[in-house]
Amino acid sequence: MTEPTLEPLPRVRHRDIVRRGLRGECPNCGQAKLFRSLLKIHHRCPHCGMTLERGDGYYLGPLCINYGIVVFGYVAPLLLTGFSDWVSLKLALALALSGALLLPLLLYRISWSLWLMIYYFCLPDELHANRPEDSDDLQFEEEQRR
Ligand SMILES: [Zn+2]
Repeated sequence: MTEPTLEPLPRVRHRDIVRRGLRGECPNCGQAKLFRSLLKIHHRCPHCGMTLERGDGYYLGPLCINYGIVVFGYVAPLLLTGFSDWVSLKLALALALSGALLLPLLLYRISWSLWLMIYYFCLPDELHANRPEDSDDLQFEEEQRR
């Protein structure tokens, strides 16, 4: 595996962050996909080297997005239809249970991409491309890579 490049990147604008988030690409460079396999996110972008999976607690963002979509977008409306007699309650419960088990897997990649998009949309200066050259954080991460 080649070492990630640390070339200076052009400043990333909000529309770049949204476009890259919708495409599932690195929010910093847009040159690499977020995932190395079906359910494994790159720890660092293979192109620019920015840390994508930042460790402790960072997974809570995608987890909350995933949970919110499943509960409020699928399970709750389905149960409401079951309790309002539009469909049988047994069918609604069966669909809700199967969806609650299957949908989080299907939404895993999307929720990571949305999380990174939202995070860096709100905090664009945390992207390496938007940090000043003499940023302590960037130097620290570069030293960690060596
Ligand atoms: Zn990148």
